[in-house]
Amino acid sequence: MSSPAPSLSDLVVERVGFGIFVLDRDMNVLMWNRFMQDHSGLSAEQVVGKSLFTHFPELPRVWLSRKIESVFQLGSFAFSSWEQRPYLFKFDHDRPITGGVDYMQQDCTFMPLTRDREVVAVCVTISDVTHVSIVQREREEAVAKLQEYADRDGLTGIANRRYFEARLQDEYTRWQRYGGDMSVLLFDLDHFKKINDQFGHGVGDTVLRVMAQRVAGVVRAQDTFGRFGGEEFALLLPCTPLEDAMRVAEKIRCTIADTPVEVQGTGVPVTASVGGAAARPGLPAYEVLINEADAALYSAKRQGRNRSVALT
Ligand code: GH3
Ligand code: MG
Ligand code: MG
Repeated sequence: MSSPAPSLSDLVVERVGFGIFVLDRDMNVLMWNRFMQDHSGLSAEQVVGKSLFTHFPELPRVWLSRKIESVFQLGSFAFSSWEQRPYLFKFDHDRPITGGVDYMQQDCTFMPLTRDREVVAVCVTISDVTHVSIVQREREEAVAKLQEYADRDGLTGIANRRYFEARLQDEYTRWQRYGGDMSVLLFDLDHFKKINDQFGHGVGDTVLRVMAQRVAGVVRAQDTFGRFGGEEFALLLPCTPLEDAMRVAEKIRCTIADTPVEVQGTGVPVTASVGGAAARPGLPAYEVLINEADAALYSAKRQGRNRSVALT
């Protein structure tokens, strides 16, 4: 005996591009469309008439049962977005593995099916939103990368002045509230104009890059090292008294002066002068600390350069 021709709605349910299945109040499957079959590998004959958990024991049983029961009780729709719960079923997705998602990301709808105002079953739909989640992830990564670039100096890759000052302001606020120590070092390469004049601006740039990397390699992780201007750099040392900061200043000065920078086979000798200042009671603003370190730097220049001087 041939089965009757399927109705139009049967055809739609079969061919539609998302999962549709129906559950009764005991979580038994009443209907299972082609999408569900294709992605689970289980046909309607295998699944219908049995508890959903028979074939899918890994489903979040408590959560799902509660969700279905609430639709029966309230008679209203319920939803679950991939952002709350990335997937219900462990279905493969058709995206390259490089997308970073393990399974098909799913939005779910729980729809009450009512007869005479009574919910007789719940229809669940499963939409593949893997592409949305990948786009969103990529966007988040791009924003994080932009954020990172916004804080960096283009030539040297270390913190830029804006970021340095923001960190200094944070640290100043912390110091104001809790006290303790904090110091700032400013250093400036000596006679840098001469280096540009003698070797060219390109070599000058390389010297700045190498210097910044070299110094970045000797500062502590909790310190913030930034490019303050052309050939001027700054180091913020939280929880550090002036005496210790000046020891760091000498270390930086030696790191710069001890080894000429190799550029295109030539050794370019470079030295730097360093000025240091520490927060003292009554310090009215973080800018004053910068000015004090700058005054000390100026003093180091006047005393003959290639030295570090603390504000006294
Ligand atoms: P001093 O010892 O007094 O600091 O002498 P100086 O020559 O280093 O000081 P000055 O401020 O007169 O000159 C700084 C020079 O740094 C001038 C400028 O051309 C150069 N400079 C600033 N920014 C850059 C940069 O990004 N790349 C290169 N190559 N040079 C730069
Ligand atoms: Mg200089
Ligand atoms: Mg300068």
